[in-house]
Amino acid sequence: MKIGVLGAGQLGRMLALQGYPLGLRFRFFDPTAKGPANDLAEQHAEDYRDVDALKKFAQGLDAVTYEFENVPIETARLLSDCVPHVFPPPAALEASQDRLVEKTFFNSLGIDTAPFRKVDSLDELRAAADELGLPAILKTRRMGYDGKGQFVIESADQIDAAFTALGGANLILEGFVKFDREVSILAVRNRDGDSAFYPLVENIHRGGILRISRAPAPHISPLQQPDAEDKAMRVMNALNYVGVLAIEFFESHGKLLANEMACRVHNSGHWTIEGAETSQFENHLRAGLNLPLGSTQPLGFTAMINLIGKVPETKDVLAVPGAHLHLYRKAPKPGRKLGHITLVGEDPADREERLEALLNLVE
Ligand code: AMP
Repeated sequence: MKIGVLGAGQLGRMLALQGYPLGLRFRFFDPTAKGPANDLAEQHAEDYRDVDALKKFAQGLDAVTYEFENVPIETARLLSDCVPHVFPPPAALEASQDRLVEKTFFNSLGIDTAPFRKVDSLDELRAAADELGLPAILKTRRMGYDGKGQFVIESADQIDAAFTALGGANLILEGFVKFDREVSILAVRNRDGDSAFYPLVENIHRGGILRISRAPAPHISPLQQPDAEDKAMRVMNALNYVGVLAIEFFESHGKLLANEMACRVHNSGHWTIEGAETSQFENHLRAGLNLPLGSTQPLGFTAMINLIGKVPETKDVLAVPGAHLHLYRKAPKPGRKLGHITLVGEDPADREERLEALLNLVE
């Protein structure tokens, strides 16, 4: 079986590394010639809108998936006509690429979000700020990631500047959620409709970028896991979803408000490589090939630290007992995710102790 992957970043790299034991082969498509997955399989370094290049890429593939969330929707649709299976369904990708469509979709399924308003003019922004109150967050509807394309409006005198800074159209204003923490759920569904869920993960961001995940998330109330699973199930059923789905939530007074979803494997699921019976990457591939899903059972109390901008010495990381280092072979640059470290603790206290030792190396 040969799987085509759109995007050749670290997610594609880990997908291939987890797929090889199943005897799978891979081919990548990414305009950036030297992505992290580049040395693992052949890569077609063409433009996502080059129809001839896409048709050539599709030849002989059994399925296509994506590891890059901003793949043009036309690209995914075109490939659906050329290969037996494209997963997750292009409609899911489409729903997740536009924050306004995504939040409207969540609400239509009875999934609560922060209050939001469409903004295409300064008048609309002023009216939205009046209705939602300040502070509020102005965001671009498309192409935002890791906190980019956002402006926190604290007071009315910042409205004009925020509007200009974000380009003045195709925006969304969101009420500012004073959340207690951020959590995410990873769910997976195969083509037969069988589904499985990983335990909720607690995510700590710095400068808009995920820094630390703890799985299972500490202090989850008995109702929160089933609530998050129910929300993910609603999304997956509505889209006839296939593959891994991640939904990020704000937890506020015990309630979960959906912020965004990713129709792919997700950074807050990297812990599953060492910390769960079956990794998110393997389960994504199992789902797309309609194989039985693997157990999502956690193997302990896991912490994952992203290496952002700088990488510590390998020997120092590996000197921490049980630390697993993943490097993505990317050139260092401020704000860039270069790798991650995972450790699986026997209990929450053990996790915290060794996490502390690792944080001393990376901060
Ligand atoms: P996003 O790109 O939507 O994931 O936002 C990046 C980060 O900004 C989130 O992880 C939050 O920490 C923060 N953030 C985004 N939207 C809101 C909101 N409506 N209220 C409060 N904080 C937010």
